[in-house]
Amino acid sequence: MAAPRKTDTIAAVATPPGTGGIGIIRISGSKALAILQHLFRPRNKRKTLQSHKLYYGTVVADDGRVLDEVLAVYMRAPATYTREDVVELHSHGSWLVLQSLLAEVFRAGARAAEPGEFTKRAFLAGRIDLTQAEAVIDLLGAQTASGMELAVEQMQGRLAEELEPVRQALARILAVVEVAIDFPDDDVEILAGEELGKQLQAEVLDRLEQLLCLADQGRVIREGVHAVIAGRPNVGKSSLLNALLREERALVSDIPGTTRDTIEELISVRGIPVYLVDTAGIHEHDDLVEGLGIERARAKLAEADLVLFLVDGKAGFTEQDRELYTLIRDKKHIVVLNKMDLLADGESDGLAAGFAPHPVVRLSARTGENIDGLQEALYGVLTEGLSMTERPACAPNTRHRAILEKTRAACLRLRDALRQGAPADLVAVELQESLDILGDIVGLTTPEDVLDIIFSEFCIGK
Ligand code: GDP
Repeated sequence: MAAPRKTDTIAAVATPPGTGGIGIIRISGSKALAILQHLFRPRNKRKTLQSHKLYYGTVVADDGRVLDEVLAVYMRAPATYTREDVVELHSHGSWLVLQSLLAEVFRAGARAAEPGEFTKRAFLAGRIDLTQAEAVIDLLGAQTASGMELAVEQMQGRLAEELEPVRQALARILAVVEVAIDFPDDDVEILAGEELGKQLQAEVLDRLEQLLCLADQGRVIREGVHAVIAGRPNVGKSSLLNALLREERALVSDIPGTTRDTIEELISVRGIPVYLVDTAGIHEHDDLVEGLGIERARAKLAEADLVLFLVDGKAGFTEQDRELYTLIRDKKHIVVLNKMDLLADGESDGLAAGFAPHPVVRLSARTGENIDGLQEALYGVLTEGLSMTERPACAPNTRHRAILEKTRAACLRLRDALRQGAPADLVAVELQESLDILGDIVGLTTPEDVLDIIFSEFCIGK
């Protein structure tokens, strides 16, 4: 492993800031038990603290003040999250209480944990691989049920599992090539590269392609897309936003840190997070077709992955609609004809035909009619060209994707070398390199600075 193991004892509040029913302080390292014994007065004084058992008692400061009633647990290494001795103090969930407890824990010999340091120790101790550590970040930040399921799968080592056959195939080919190096007389026969090339294609390259494809899906599921609802005033943009939110409210969580200067809301379209922006603000104060107004609309539209272009079906396609549509027509967009509740059947056919062959969704934001049709259309557009599996087994992230691409490039060089009957030692070098690159995914060979970047994405206490 790259880094020397740190043996000092770390501590942090593991529950989120704010007031809750309970709050948890987590301590990990060789001094964890000593710190607990120093601070904690169990109610039943005769009891010795056994591992993985919860004890009721009080935490007492150095000056004798009782800081809080707590439940305390000592977990002896190595059956713990970090593989070190771990102590947890479950106190009342007041931030002030937690801070005063933590201060005592520091006084007793722990230092403040860095963001992600508990999980980093679990990784450095070999309890989890790097993809599993990253999955913890994904899980903490998951915005939809699908994102959460993916993270849980990955936390259980799913990506590493998927990669294992690829790694083994490469190792097997390497073994054959090494035999060829050891017995150079048989060189030609053993490296009659065709068979090895075929194995490489079927067992490595094809599999890498599939994983890269899953990475595209994973990116969409994890990061989602930004969609803008655009249309002239009064076509029903806010109504549509509300209608979509009504459908989805139960499925999505609040997003901390969402910009409040624009109206941005999160919905889940069959598991894909879609951040919806209502452009109502754009043309409330500015004339859309002139100067600033159009610039701001352009900027908003430029940031969008997708535009929902809303037209009032009753009012028809006006001059203002036409001008706005010139900004949108070359972007990925869905045309939505609204206020269908005001129209008789077939009355909007002419309007829809005007957009042909671009598909049109007709709905009523007021009654909610065909909102599900819009969601279907959204899903179709978002997953276009992705050959989306309903539930991908794993989803490589951007870091994994870059490594998979590097491995693929190395394997393609290897395939060429095999085809051209390159000397065995050269082939072996390419193979070893492919294996090394692949090892970066699970963190076998990942440099310390990369680890630091990954773990710094965590919050403190995780
Ligand atoms: P925005 O300016 O584009 O955000 O439009 P609003 O959502 O504020 O809607 C403008 C007006 O149209 C409001 O009076 C809405 O109640 C009405 N409206 C919106 N959608 C519909 C619809 O589907 N049917 C009907 N009949 N009225 C609608």
